[in-house]
Amino acid sequence: VPIDLLVRNASEVVTVAGGSRAPLRGAAMRDLQRIDNGAVAIKDGKIAAVGRRAEIEAEVAPSPETTIVDAGGGIVVPGLIEPHTHLLFAGSRVDEFHMRVAGAGYLEIAARGGGIARTVAATRSLSAGDLAAIGRRHLDLVLGQGTTTVEIKSGYGLSTDAELAQLRVLRRLSEECPNTIVATFLGAHAIPPEFRGRRQDYVDLVADEMVPAVARERLAEFCDVFCEEGAFTVEESRRILAGAARHGLAAKVHADELSLSGGARLASEIGACSADHLNFTSPGEASSLVARGTIAVLLPATPFFLLAPRYADGRGLIDLGVPVALATDFNPTSSISSMLFVMFLACLHMRFDPSEALAAATINAAHAIRRADRAGSIEPGKLADLLVLAVASHREIPFYVGRNIVRTVIKSGKVVAGPPDPRG
Ligand code: FE
Repeated sequence: VPIDLLVRNASEVVTVAGGSRAPLRGAAMRDLQRIDNGAVAIKDGKIAAVGRRAEIEAEVAPSPETTIVDAGGGIVVPGLIEPHTHLLFAGSRVDEFHMRVAGAGYLEIAARGGGIARTVAATRSLSAGDLAAIGRRHLDLVLGQGTTTVEIKSGYGLSTDAELAQLRVLRRLSEECPNTIVATFLGAHAIPPEFRGRRQDYVDLVADEMVPAVARERLAEFCDVFCEEGAFTVEESRRILAGAARHGLAAKVHADELSLSGGARLASEIGACSADHLNFTSPGEASSLVARGTIAVLLPATPFFLLAPRYADGRGLIDLGVPVALATDFNPTSSISSMLFVMFLACLHMRFDPSEALAAATINAAHAIRRADRAGSIEPGKLADLLVLAVASHREIPFYVGRNIVRTVIKSGKVVAGPPDPRG
């Protein structure tokens, strides 16, 4: 069989296979499938074969046109899957970071003009072309960090026109950029300033006008709601998500991030695809996620960066059998965009085992955005999205925090970061 690209000389290929139909849970998150001295053959942007180097080289025929990627004794893992970002935004909030490290609290920063409203104003004021340019930069950044599939939420428009405009930019980016992009509508991110004192009107606008408009243009697959005190109540969230489901948008919930808001309970009641954050979720509510197959998406970079160090009980969730994924929450107040760094935080602050962290950043993250049928593991027929990392074992990944261990990024069968090694 002639092939387009061959990755060889890997100390191990961690395929993370076996979780495409259902996410990995419990002990299965620790017991990842891998192949010592492995190789991966790629044809037409898909994985053609994966196995031991001798087997693969006997089976496939590199031609003079075949690109050879020498892993140099490093490891090969699936391209990382990022299931929760807000990376399409304008303006900088670095000054809020300066205030925070100087000791200012959330309310003080808000009183001085910080918060989501500021990003909304900056984002609304940009042309589609200028916003797309920012999006392209952020997508390049995360691709170089090994993220080949990325979920991106709207939520910095908060009017029908501005939300649609952001989602149209995402559609344009998904046509132009190599990254796989999954779009989520987050009109229920905050009550915009012009609706202050009229929150019910805004909830009606999201549910009755924005959701149908997003669905009509097929601009998003998911609808998310910031269910939190000061944002949207459980009942408002339920109303928006139920309407979205009728329009074919699957549910996600920002749940229990800053308090026990009831978001996780709502997610399990409505059978949401994912419940995200869960910093304050009780074990009882967490176990209700198991029955509905809702993925717990944990975001340790947010409490880390915001100096609000209450982390989700990742260890407890995994031990309860909840399928757990990781994400960055990359947004204007938290600049962490690296899934590898998030894997380190999950080990350090949530007591993940390194193998669990990799499962959570690949196949389980793919389930959180309904891409596990085509991404998240190295298996024949899936997208040829994979990384060469300069470590000897996947168990070393979180240890080398702060070093760039990403040697090569392959997206849909093409080397997009790091040079392919010269032939031989
Ligand atoms: Fe978020």
